[in-house]
Amino acid sequence: MNGEFDFIDRIRRQVKTSSPDLILGIGDDTAILRELSGRESLLTVDLLVEDVDFKLDYAVPHMLGHKALAVSLSDIAAMGGTPRFSLLTLGIPPRLTDSPAPPFWEDFFAGYFALAERFGVTLIGGDMSATPERLTIDSIVMGHCRAGQAVRRSGSRPGDAIYVTGELGASAAGLKLLLAGQRVKEDGDNLAQTALRAHLRPEPRVEFGRLLGEAGIARAMIDISDGLAQDLAHLCEESRVRAVIDRQRIPVSNCLSLFALGEDERFSLAIGGGEDFELLFTASEKDDAKLRQIAERCALPLTRIGEVLELAEGPSMMLKDRGHVSPLDVRGYEHFVK
Ligand code: ADP
Ligand code: MG
Repeated sequence: MNGEFDFIDRIRRQVKTSSPDLILGIGDDTAILRELSGRESLLTVDLLVEDVDFKLDYAVPHMLGHKALAVSLSDIAAMGGTPRFSLLTLGIPPRLTDSPAPPFWEDFFAGYFALAERFGVTLIGGDMSATPERLTIDSIVMGHCRAGQAVRRSGSRPGDAIYVTGELGASAAGLKLLLAGQRVKEDGDNLAQTALRAHLRPEPRVEFGRLLGEAGIARAMIDISDGLAQDLAHLCEESRVRAVIDRQRIPVSNCLSLFALGEDERFSLAIGGGEDFELLFTASEKDDAKLRQIAERCALPLTRIGEVLELAEGPSMMLKDRGHVSPLDVRGYEHFVK
């Protein structure tokens, strides 16, 4: 690569999307955005660190570019918003800047911009610096929603039904395969490849989140990054409620059948594995039909998995298993815990 400014220039030339709200993008000291009354801005940032959040020996560059943006789009979706602008900050180790420029960055940005274009997101800036060893990627996304319409974690009420999109555990299965040495094949389409892709190239539920936000029927929502159990616990805590989920209704991904695991282990991975980037939300039972319509429009499975309960003494998360109710073991991914 021929230095920082040449690199920025090459990134800048790949920006294909624009927006009426964008006055100035890459190239100045700051970007300039137009403010509009009647709407609110949603801002989110996600840090991906090599050897903590991904490994370069199994990462596929275009999938890593996709994932860097996808994790932040998922946060905007979880607020019921529409993503609009992004910033990208890179800490780059020597092996990724050596001349001639490694194809890594071309592929990385192809993945990043393909996803950005699909959802009309414009990259408006960023920063970069050299790092001694590990690649770090900091992804920032800004989105919008109508004023007062953002779906927070704190709005659940006792009696609400709990829903989750998609299936759970495919990403955990993919990570297990990667750590066991399996790799993505560009033309592979079996179950193992599905699992690998679920982990390396997650699909953020942007359209579903936006439509749900516009419909105004989700009371509380969160995206599943740490695992269903952990993320539901976050939602319950913010809403000051408890929850019971029904074991038989959890949509456990088929990908977990790739391993010689018992049913209990598969279930644990589905609710504790994390990084599925599905949306978990609560809504009034009376809105069930409207929710199903939105899911159908997005061609997304939607499963009702449980119910919100009033706060009381005892465990805040419960598991119903064929009529028998017991405390739910909440264990997801958490940094800094040994
Ligand atoms: P400054 O030193 O004033 O922060 P820079 O020279 O770092 O400006 O950046 C010049 C322009 O390039 C800015 O508009 C900045 O947002 C943009 N930029 C820098 N790095 C990136 C990146 N990784 N992705 C997108 N835009 C970038
Ligand atoms: Mg700078």
